[in-house]
Amino acid sequence: MKAWWIACAWIALLGVDGRGQDVAFQHEGREGTVTTVLRSAPEWNALDLVVVADGYGAAERARFDADAREVLRLFEEVEPFATYRGLFNVHLVFLPVARRGETHLQVRYPQPVPSNRMEFDVRRLHALVGRATVAAGFAADLIHVVVNQDRFGGTAHRGGRVSVVSRNRDARNRQHGLDLLLVTAHELGHSLGGLVEERPGDAHGHDDHDDHAPNAAFDRAQTPWEAWLDRDAPLVTSRQRPPGAAIPFTRGFDPDATPVGLHEGAALRARSAWRAQPHCIMRSDAASFCVVCREALVVAFHEHARPAALTEAAVEGGVALSIETWLPPGQAVVRWDLAEGDDPSLALRLEAATAAGARRVVVAPASRVVVRCVVEDTTPWVRGDRARVQRALVATLEPPAAAGGSLREALGEVGGASGR
Ligand SMILES: [Zn+2]
Repeated sequence: MKAWWIACAWIALLGVDGRGQDVAFQHEGREGTVTTVLRSAPEWNALDLVVVADGYGAAERARFDADAREVLRLFEEVEPFATYRGLFNVHLVFLPVARRGETHLQVRYPQPVPSNRMEFDVRRLHALVGRATVAAGFAADLIHVVVNQDRFGGTAHRGGRVSVVSRNRDARNRQHGLDLLLVTAHELGHSLGGLVEERPGDAHGHDDHDDHAPNAAFDRAQTPWEAWLDRDAPLVTSRQRPPGAAIPFTRGFDPDATPVGLHEGAALRARSAWRAQPHCIMRSDAASFCVVCREALVVAFHEHARPAALTEAAVEGGVALSIETWLPPGQAVVRWDLAEGDDPSLALRLEAATAAGARRVVVAPASRVVVRCVVEDTTPWVRGDRARVQRALVATLEPPAAAGGSLREALGEVGGASGR
């Protein structure tokens, strides 16, 4: 499966003539291209990630493709992206610059090394991506820019689904594990998961305080990760090292084998802020997200994709209702019931379909009914509010003689996460 996916992605990217199926677009007098390198689900049901090149010249397409491959290792090596890659479509947007050092988004580093903070013009970014996605016929859910700069850098709009990183070729940072892949994962943690930093501070006195952040607690008695704590057992805690102490990169951190507790130092505060586990990609000291950040990302996947669809088809003896899901294999549970209408035999049949785990039922109602199908992601990675990984889909059905419009028009969708 893994090899198959890699082959498909790179056959699509490289194509028979060295490039994929490019869609051309014009922006500010230049010609750019959109190349879809991973298509897992219909656009309506997928989380469409756009990886934008900035600062690459026309002759540097191969360099950008190599950088994009490093970004896409996310779907092989970093959870929960790898398990949920079936929800993602990935598109590359390439608009060359005329001169080396130029960027479309006016990217700059406002602070001296070692700060990795980058600034950019988000309106220019949305204008560029808008041109590209209209030409290619899809809407972007998540935008990630790779800037042709070697200096360590990354920044994100928290919860805003926009992030920017450099190529991150700084040898010192790469030696500490902070390569383009992990900086990408970290920035998507901010932009998609709404996560804050788990580091204790930076040299510039920034504060990442946010009372609604999923991954930082500002009150020991009330953490956002109560569902992960065993309050009957002694709480696992640790104190933050002295301010300024370097945080070593920890290889082999396994979130599932590590107790969840209260670890001091988070949200760029050394004191009075806690994180759930000692290590995390949001602390930039590990190659895995902690359980709390992983949970927030899975919930975000459900919010921004529509991982299930209900379709109907006229068949002999009635209407066939079918559920299709793009959740990880074996991870979806389907429950059917009668949401409206009085049809005891149909209610019993739906009950039997639920018991059998059926993805398809044929119904022939004698009167108007509403059939509901709830698709739940059974992932053990979400422990809090399970409703956030469920989606309810409904079909309103009328007997043929009474039907005014088509059944397709009668199909609706309610509940679950808000999509686009
Ligand atoms: Zn974390």
